[in-house]
This record gives sequence, C-alpha cells and structure tokens, in this order.
Amino acid sequence: MTEKKELTNLTKEELENEIIAIGEKKFRAKQLWQWIYFRGETDFEKMSNLSLPFRQFLQENYTISRPKIVAEQISVDKTHKWLLEFADKERVEMVYIPEKDRGAVCISTQVGCAMGCKFCHTGSQKFTRNLTVGEIVGQFMVARDAYNEWPSPTDETRYLSNIVVMGMGEPLNNLENVTKALNILTDCEGIGISRRRITMSTSGIAPRIVEAMQRTGVRLAVSLHAPNNYIRSQIMPINDKFSIEEIMKACAEYQKGDHSRYITFEYLLLKGINDSQENARELINLLKKYKLRALFNLIPFNPWPGCAFEPSDKKTIEEFSKTLDKAGFAAPVRVARGQDILAACGQLKSKKEKDKNKS
Ligand code: SAH
Ligand code: SF4
Repeated sequence: MTEKKELTNLTKEELENEIIAIGEKKFRAKQLWQWIYFRGETDFEKMSNLSLPFRQFLQENYTISRPKIVAEQISVDKTHKWLLEFADKERVEMVYIPEKDRGAVCISTQVGCAMGCKFCHTGSQKFTRNLTVGEIVGQFMVARDAYNEWPSPTDETRYLSNIVVMGMGEPLNNLENVTKALNILTDCEGIGISRRRITMSTSGIAPRIVEAMQRTGVRLAVSLHAPNNYIRSQIMPINDKFSIEEIMKACAEYQKGDHSRYITFEYLLLKGINDSQENARELINLLKKYKLRALFNLIPFNPWPGCAFEPSDKKTIEEFSKTLDKAGFAAPVRVARGQDILAACGQLKSKKEKDKNKS
C-alpha cells in the first residue's frame, strides 16, 4: 500500500495541480482549500459540497493532519505553551502570547538548531531536521483549534492575530519550506493572516536576508545581541561565518528605496557581556553608519539550567534602553512572559525528554 499524501504540505498551486491530475475540475481544489484553511476541517467526510465518491477518494489517498499535542501549559499570565509531536516522534514547541485583545503565535521551523548560540536552549540541543511545510502550517492550525478560530475570523476580531517565526530553529536555513508555509498562512481564501502581522527572526544568515524578505514579504527581525564582532562571535558562533558588517549591508540593501521597511534588532542582555553603556553607544554608531531605519527589542535573558550566563540587572537594562532611545532608536524592553511555565524556548521539550528517560 502506498502511503497517503499529506495535503498541508502542498501550496495552493500544487494542490490545484494534484486535483487536476486525478481528473477533477480545478474549482474542486478551491473548495478543498477552503475546507482545510478557512474552516479548519480535517475530516473529508464533512466536506459536504464535495461529491461522495470524491470524498471517499480523498479519504483513501490523502490526509489532513495536525501535529499531536504531547504537553500543554497555560501560565498565570495566559501565555500558552504546547509541546508538539510529528509523525516521526520529533518534537517542537509553540507558544501563544496573548495581549489585551489579540496575540502572537510563536512557531518553530526546525527540530533543534545548528547555529549553537551559547545563550539559547534550543541551540544546546542537536539539530535533527527541517520541518516540512505542513508541520509549520500545522502548528498555527493547532493554536486555531485551541482558540476555536474557525472559520477564519475577519482581521479585527481575531484573537490569534500575529505570527512570529521565532520558535526553535533558524528559518533562513529552511527557506523553501518556510516560504511555502507563509504563503499558505497568508492566503486570503484560507487562514488569511496579513504579511504585515508576521515577523521572521534570523540569527543573521546575511546572504539570504534580501532573498528571504523578497520571497516572503513579512517583517524582518535580526538577532544582533552584540555591538561588535568580538562579543558577537563569543556568544553566536555563526558570526564567524557572517560578520556584523555583512548583516548590516544586507539589511541596508533590504531597506533600499522602501521607507516602510523597518527592521527590529533583537538584543539579548547578558550580564557583564553586552550590557554596558559603552556597548550601547557602539551599537548606536553601528546603526548610524549603515543608516538603518530600525528599532530595538531588548530581551531580558531567560536563564536555563546549565547555561553560564546571567540576566542583566533591571536598572542596567533600563539605562541601556534609555541611551538607545535618546539616540532616536526606540528600544522597548520585552516583558518576560510565562515565567511560571518554563517559557524560555526549548525548555518544555527538554523537561519532557528528561521525564521520558526517567520512566
Ligand atoms: N533562530 C532565530 C529565531 C528563533 S530564536 C533567531 O535566532 O533569531 C528567537 C529569539 O529568541 C532570538 O532573538 C534569540 O536570540 C532569543 N533567545 C534565545 N535564547 C534565549 C534566552 N535564553 N532568553 C531570551 N531570549 C532568547
Ligand atoms: Fe538557533 Fe536562534 Fe537559538 Fe541561535 S538563538 S541557536 S539561531 S534558535
């Protein structure tokens, strides 16, 4: 018996081709698309406007699956975290971070990460594989299931309003699948999240930044975390391959001629490593040199067992923020969320693995 084909791995065009290839009319692909991505339906039998023989054929040859929920935690501040498992038992995490009347879902793009950033819990786990298109899209669909956001609500009323590609993995190292997944997530006949409400964060794979942004049309965030190569290489090994200058040049190229393109620079504050006033001034000079339109997102370090770094003091973070702000760069401090539920990326996964080994 041949294995059934997973429909969420297909782009809209690929789905159309698939349906035409089995001898059905093209508009059937559109109906199917709406069932899957507008209504969130996973059961072919319930797709009432498709003929019974067609439904049966789909049932026999295709699947519409969701990642399996292995563990789930909801923090006192309503931050919601899932540990998800795919068919081959590999696992990733997803987080929903609610604001007052909307919120962002943080999705993963790889199992583990090969970049090995020293402060990152995911980076301390080995890289296993890229996620498929369906596995990336499926994460958001799990969140939609949990918050009953089917059929797709209009923009104003949706609770799961934003997506941040900031979970486990380096999205630019899985660009093919990430691009296809983002095309599915933003399609207006389906899930319909606006590209402006999606932010993709990269550790700075400089030669792919412009291409990635052209292909996806989402917002760019860059994990900078240091004002110079000396510090950055100590905490992010990838910096030896793509230096700060290369990243800055790619960012400037991306912004060329389009004033709406703001870049968010994420800056993780590590005590005694990158949090001094001198570091802040060096950072300002760096951005001015490349004339970037940017804002900062200052991230308090989320410690995890076995990590050598410590978070910066509150006062140091505030002063760092003020200095950037005075120089004309907005630099809000990210509010730590879900502190009671191991919210630092990768932590729920490793806790479960330890539990698994115990039993
Ligand atoms: N690989 C991409 C996207 C995923 S990481 C990237 O590195 O940009 C998302 C963000 O979480 C990055 O800015 C990363 O530096 C940050 N991060 C990693 N470990 C962290 C920790 N322990 N505490 C706080 N933020 C962390
Ligand atoms: Fe990978 Fe991003 Fe973690 Fe670095 S910070 S190890 S790039 S997930």
